[in-house]
This record gives sequence, C-alpha cells and structure tokens, in this order.
Amino acid sequence: MPTAKPSSVLSAAAAKKLWNLYGFESSKDLVLEDLAMALGVVVLEGHLKAADAWLIRKGEKGIIRVSDAIPELGRRRFAVAHELGHWSLHKTLSQLLSCTSADMLARYKASAPEIEANMFAAELLMPTHLFQPALGASQPTARFVNELAERFGTTRTSTAFRIADLTKDYFALVMSKDGKVAWWQASDALAEYVWIENGGSVPRYSVAAKFFAGESLPDAPQKIDVGDWFSENRGLDAECFYEDVIPMPRYGKALSLLWLE
Ligand SMILES: [Zn+2]
Repeated sequence: MPTAKPSSVLSAAAAKKLWNLYGFESSKDLVLEDLAMALGVVVLEGHLKAADAWLIRKGEKGIIRVSDAIPELGRRRFAVAHELGHWSLHKTLSQLLSCTSADMLARYKASAPEIEANMFAAELLMPTHLFQPALGASQPTARFVNELAERFGTTRTSTAFRIADLTKDYFALVMSKDGKVAWWQASDALAEYVWIENGGSVPRYSVAAKFFAGESLPDAPQKIDVGDWFSENRGLDAECFYEDVIPMPRYGKALSLLWLE
C-alpha cells in the first residue's frame, strides 16, 4: 500500500462533484445503487468472510459486493459509499479491494486509500453544504445524533464523526468497548487541547462506565469533570464537559459524545 499522505480535499471534491453532476438536492435523492450503476458499478449483496465490502474492477466496469451480515442500513450504505470512493479515487491502485469494518473507520494511522475512501463516503452521504447548516446551534446529544443519522441514512458513529469534522465547537466522540477506550476523535477546536489514551479504562465517573456496569443510563446529558475523560489538558479553560452516551449493546460498545456547553 502506498504511504502517501491522504488528500481530504480531493476526496471530498470527488464526492461533491457527483452531487452536482446528478443534481441531488437532498439525501433522499441519493440512491447509492442507482448512482453506482450510473458510474458503471453493480452493487450486490452476499456472504463475505471478514470484510464489510469488496470492490472488483474490470476496466470501466465494477462490482461492489457488500456483506449480507451487516445488520444496519447506515453501515451498509457507508460500506457502499466507501467502495464508490475507491472506485472514483483509486483507479490504478488494485483490481480487487477488500475492506473491513476497521477500514471503514480509518482516519489516521491507516493507509491513505482507506482514509480517502472514508472522506469520500462522509462527503457523499453527509455533504458539507447540508450537514453543516443542520448542526446549527444544537447540542450534540445522543438524540440529536440519532436525528441526523436518520435524516442522512448514516450510522450514528459516522454521524458523530462528521460532527467532529465540521463543527467549530469543542466536541469529541469516544468509542469504548468492553470498558476500554477503543478510539476517539476530537473536533479541530478541541484537538489541540486534549488527549485520551487508547486502551485505557473508561473513567469511573463517566456515563460510559454506567453502561459497562449494566446500570441504566441517565435520561439527560451528564456533567463530567474535564480531567475525568481527558488524561491531558493543555490549557483548556473549562472545568466540566457534558457526556451523553449512545449504547451499542449488540457490539459491546458505548459511544460517548463529549462537548462543552
Ligand atoms: Zn477500503
């Protein structure tokens, strides 16, 4: 795999171009199978071992095979959009690409093509010109993320990711699995101030800890000390953050949304 730096600008531009080219006005107009067909790609569903989706390229024609084991429509859509990203951006890379669920989340420390395919998918499914205005002045609660995910036909995880991409506010999402931090992502505004150690236990007083302890989750976002979640705080002038959790019991995961009031 090439180690070149991923180009977020080119990836997003390629997705944006499709919105313009086909005159989509809202997410309802974006039927991925139809778009794929227009681009010369057939989308099929079937059994895939250890992958969410495949792309096979033969000249100007391609096949995307998406796993029939994916339970959520949003995740299936993201997988198809990710492969369309490879199709549009990586014509000379390989004639066969197999992409795992981890590839679908890659943003850093992964190969450039996987990151680019995700940036393409994020812009295709949640275009900046619609998503950014939708953020408005709303707080990024679990409920708000659910609403956005519904509107854009996306997973709650990729939706929260997109908020981190596009918000000007202090915001972070933290995915925990089996009581440990699996990965996290902060908005640009917050990223320069804080750090969370991957692999560490979720903070004792966090809402995520309640989920892993099998306790019922609070109905409203909770105030959490900044020091509880962030192992490093480089001069952020705040004492408390809000935390709201999206529980994902099927995967043994909890997605914490953290923001400053
Ligand atoms: Zn991929």
